[in-house]
Amino acid sequence: MTERKSEEAEITCDCKLGRIAKKYDLLALDKALVEYWTDDGDEQRSTRELATYVNHRILETALTNANVPRKEGEVENTYRLLTSDDITSGTRIETKKHLQRDGVPVEDVESDFVSHQTVYNHLTKCLDASVETPSDEERLERSAEKLGALQNRTAVVTADTVDQLDRKGILEIGEFNVNVSVTVTCEDCFQEYTIRDLLDQQSCDCKRLGASER
Ligand SMILES: [Zn+2]
Ligand SMILES: [Zn+2]
Repeated sequence: MTERKSEEAEITCDCKLGRIAKKYDLLALDKALVEYWTDDGDEQRSTRELATYVNHRILETALTNANVPRKEGEVENTYRLLTSDDITSGTRIETKKHLQRDGVPVEDVESDFVSHQTVYNHLTKCLDASVETPSDEERLERSAEKLGALQNRTAVVTADTVDQLDRKGILEIGEFNVNVSVTVTCEDCFQEYTIRDLLDQQSCDCKRLGASER
């Protein structure tokens, strides 16, 4: 916890989650939330899971502040007793009474618990995080789609124009097809590619030539 100062300064927003993070001194919470949310592997967690994660830390801090000695898994268990649907109201009341006796401000703690919506808003609005950061493949795919649509449009307009001129007798042509092909030429290796091939290969010949020189 030597990085305490800089991490404290990290939380700057004033939404519920930002206020809670300050109140409970939840260090590096933003960093953890963004990492878990945007992880594209096994560590990825939903905003629902992240809300539980935040709430566990709130409860943990509240128990620590009240000097309640804890056993392993007690935070998770107490949280479940306070919030889960499958807990009877009798058990819930008992749990609250118990916490109050221990000096935990349980009403405050409960109203400080965050919802998955609060986590989502904090991530997207305060932290400007997004899980929709496209991968290289998605970018290539979108680019191919965009250019493909543009080529189709060019083909349609060309066919219409030729057709109109044909009908007016200004131009003569039989049945026809229009093909639009865009090529890109590298001025270093002089290779010419259709845009489709270039997107598929993701490089011109420069890379290959450069590699063989080494
Ligand atoms: Zn926020
Ligand atoms: Zn090249």
